[in-house]
Amino acid sequence: MADTPAVAADGFCTNAVPVKGSARTANTAGLGSKFYRLHGRPYGDCPCGRQAIGLNGKGRLYRHKPPQEE
Ligand SMILES: [Zn+2]
Repeated sequence: MADTPAVAADGFCTNAVPVKGSARTANTAGLGSKFYRLHGRPYGDCPCGRQAIGLNGKGRLYRHKPPQEE
């Protein structure tokens, strides 16, 4: 992907802006208790391919690493 964000030397993704329209709040109703910990938390996707990253109070993605192709 041409718009894949850069990766810092420590392996973390440098992008903190969620993909437009991807920010959402987890609704775990019906998913069972396994997902209860996600309930009510906002999260979004990153253009690096990582999905469902938590957002901080400013709507920015928490530090994360892009998915590795193994
Ligand atoms: Zn990323």
